[in-house]
Amino acid sequence: MSEDQVPRGFCPLPWVHLSANTDTSLRVCCNTDHGGHVRDANGQIVYLSEVGSVKDAMNQSTYKELRKAMLAGERPDFCRRCYTEEDHGARSVRQIYVGHFSGVLERARVQTKDDGGIEPEVTYVDFSLSNNCNLKCRMCNPHSSFALSEEFRELGLEYSSVQTQKAHKGWELDGNFGRIAREVVPHLKEMLTTGGEPFLSSAHYKILELCVESGRSQDIVLRYHSNLTLLPPRLIEIWKRFKQVELHVSLEGVGPVNDYVRFPSRWDSIVRHLEKLSVVRGQVRLFIEVHTCLQAISWLRQWELVKWVSEMSVKFDGLFPRIPYPIWIDQPREMTLLALPPELRELGASRLEAELNKIEPLFSDNRSPHFEFGALQSYRGALARLRAAPYDPALYRAFLERAGKVDGFRHQNLQVLFPEFETVQP
Ligand code: SF4
Repeated sequence: MSEDQVPRGFCPLPWVHLSANTDTSLRVCCNTDHGGHVRDANGQIVYLSEVGSVKDAMNQSTYKELRKAMLAGERPDFCRRCYTEEDHGARSVRQIYVGHFSGVLERARVQTKDDGGIEPEVTYVDFSLSNNCNLKCRMCNPHSSFALSEEFRELGLEYSSVQTQKAHKGWELDGNFGRIAREVVPHLKEMLTTGGEPFLSSAHYKILELCVESGRSQDIVLRYHSNLTLLPPRLIEIWKRFKQVELHVSLEGVGPVNDYVRFPSRWDSIVRHLEKLSVVRGQVRLFIEVHTCLQAISWLRQWELVKWVSEMSVKFDGLFPRIPYPIWIDQPREMTLLALPPELRELGASRLEAELNKIEPLFSDNRSPHFEFGALQSYRGALARLRAAPYDPALYRAFLERAGKVDGFRHQNLQVLFPEFETVQP
């Protein structure tokens, strides 16, 4: 069945994929809004520490309702982030997974019970393994980076300390999580690990060891979202035992722009690690993509990242495709693109468009067509979405206020890197 024949609301993930947030709460996937929580019949959030088995986890109420709605041809509100992107012409995560898990719809139609229940065959896990991170990104929060706790507390920025603590301590493999991990490994084909910074996670190393001990590691694809400020040699050694490693490197700009947004990252160490990975390619089946969040701070210099990725892709002999994969973020509201006033939106958009127009002809050589044309489509969809979105000056005020507070705490200055913000007032 081709992608076009799949109903507009269907996504394979609720049938094949087990996923959890940093605080161990189950989520349908990491692309859903506000944690994407899986809830039980009483509307309570379900945690990995509470479920008896994979089957129990995959048959909670949220999953059942989603499956029934998707098979009935609906577009459940739960997945609106994907549908909104598609409606603006972007290629959504859902569309990527529909192509990736092409046989799931037929099986789902046959095997899903009337109440939405299934006998799960989980082949893909996606765990945000704790909020242990070495960075304090501007659009992040303490649930994802524990290092931000003090700053959020001091500056009075909103966050949940309960969730933050759970994320800090909830991933011990000697508890229920270990039992679930051991149940999943014999069937596992793909594992996405995020964080926090996944390369810092001790639980992650233990799961990799479980995979190796099971004798199945050669059948498993590892996937990461990493800031690449670290590249432990121990990790490279264990990667050699796996089928494939796919690394999504999160960058927000080039040089000082990335170091400002992804504070306190060091651009030179990221470039050094890319050079190292370029060498490691001969020993590990390695695929790298650059991913970037579309957000208010870096929008004006997004074009620089696009240019850099295109040039470095050539320099590193195709180590990664010639365009980043853009991710439209919705939270926190004052850090989203919607916070920008029309003149700044357009300034960033016209710079970006000029760069996209320059690199698009390169893609006709079909070196990495699926990814490159898909990412280009997502950039163009984001441009259309931003241009159509209403402007609320209160949101821009909130953006400037937040940036100023954080600058004061970190002894940084937004306007030094981005003088455009000085000239445009709310
Ligand atoms: S449709 Fe999108 S948000 Fe929903 S489960 Fe699939 S990838 Fe996640």
